[in-house]
Amino acid sequence: MRLSRSFLPTLKENPAEAQITSHRLMLRAGLIRQTSAGIYAWLPAGLKVLRNIANIVRAEQDAIGAQEMLMPTLQSSELWKRSGRYDAYGPEMLRIRDRHERDLLYGPTNEEMVTDLFGQVVKSYRELPQVLYHVQWKFRDEVRPRFGVMRGREFYMKDAYSFDVDYDAAVDSYRRMMLAYLRTFQRLGVKAIPMVADTGPIGGELSHEFLVLAPTGESGVFFDGAFEEQDWLSEAVDISDRESLAKFFARMTSFYAATDEKHDEAQWAKVPPERRREGRGIEVGHIFHFGRKYTESMDISVSGPDGAPLYPEMGSYGIGVSRLVAAIIEASHDEQGIIWPQSVAPFAAVIINLKNGDAQCDEICERLYAAAPEHLLYDDRGERAGVKFADADLMGHPWQVIVGPRGAKAGIVEVKNRASGERSEMPVDAVLAHIGVGA
Ligand code: ATP
Ligand code: MG
Repeated sequence: MRLSRSFLPTLKENPAEAQITSHRLMLRAGLIRQTSAGIYAWLPAGLKVLRNIANIVRAEQDAIGAQEMLMPTLQSSELWKRSGRYDAYGPEMLRIRDRHERDLLYGPTNEEMVTDLFGQVVKSYRELPQVLYHVQWKFRDEVRPRFGVMRGREFYMKDAYSFDVDYDAAVDSYRRMMLAYLRTFQRLGVKAIPMVADTGPIGGELSHEFLVLAPTGESGVFFDGAFEEQDWLSEAVDISDRESLAKFFARMTSFYAATDEKHDEAQWAKVPPERRREGRGIEVGHIFHFGRKYTESMDISVSGPDGAPLYPEMGSYGIGVSRLVAAIIEASHDEQGIIWPQSVAPFAAVIINLKNGDAQCDEICERLYAAAPEHLLYDDRGERAGVKFADADLMGHPWQVIVGPRGAKAGIVEVKNRASGERSEMPVDAVLAHIGVGA
């Protein structure tokens, strides 16, 4: 993208309405604009980040055999009356009436709809397990939307749903999903710690929230510091083997980690004092086993081995894709701006032309840019160098390729790594390989 012609409105000043760093930086770096309370438009660079995150989420869902589909945002109230949640959900649900006086709602989640679709298609226990997911906008009429996309009213979520023949198989699905989540967050460049979460009225042990540590997080967190020191994914897991999944799960849950809601002082006291970590965290994912709650209440069964109706065991698994954009920034920024992990960055690099109109500078910039225009941002604006450097740091591109008249004469450019601040000079021909772009 050429910056001179792009819809990428950076701001020098901190917007008054933004209370936390990620919100400020998302507005200043031109990623989003608010259109009404808790509802945001994603501008071109923001949309690239959102898509990069969603695609990593998809790849790891696919890797455990989950199947992507796409369910609509609008749902019929009838579905929710069948599960009993239409009345139970309360004012967070946005209710809409169509011209025929039919009650619709903008989906806050999709358990009812996916269970109904499952029931229409799957007729025998032999077709289990099934894991279905989609990445779709949700609406929850939050009382206090705040912190930008961190707690919006309309937000983008990956939600997956598993259907299994019995409890043990459902636990396998749950464990596979935990593995997929850890792999996802690792690829996104954030450390998300699974913590025991409330299972609500259903009870049981099987609910975990994934929290990214950040001082601005809304949840208080308590965890054993030994957690942070291990590479949990270094040991291979065979996702088709129950024993292997059980071992993985035992490893993941062998250390104390809980949000304030589930914090247990007696267990906490057993953690050696020097390893006790307290802080704040952002909930970026939540996995949940709830058994037959929806299949029974909605009367969705398949035929079991003995021919009798069998009500599948279910779980649901969310990742806050739009919230993650903000969470990644909370975890990865400095005074100057965002520091994007390479995997989610809107552009791999910015090419900074220090002297627009200089034949050699222009030629080198154009040549580099032409190699991969979809992955590069070319700052071809007629702005001062200082403005270009400040914007590059603010937008957080992993690499800056700086092309000035002196080096250009000798075919040399400077490359700066945003995360480490390291700078090096190199021949133009070496740049793309160095920053990992192009052939
Ligand atoms: P919270 O406790 O933050 O209100 P939740 O527990 O109600 O979230 P879930 O139903 O578990 O949310 O939704 C799955 C994921 O969707 C959450 O882990 C979170 O990352 C994201 N999410 C939920 N509500 C919002 C929101 N209002 N804005 C942005 N992301 C959200
Ligand atoms: Mg939750």
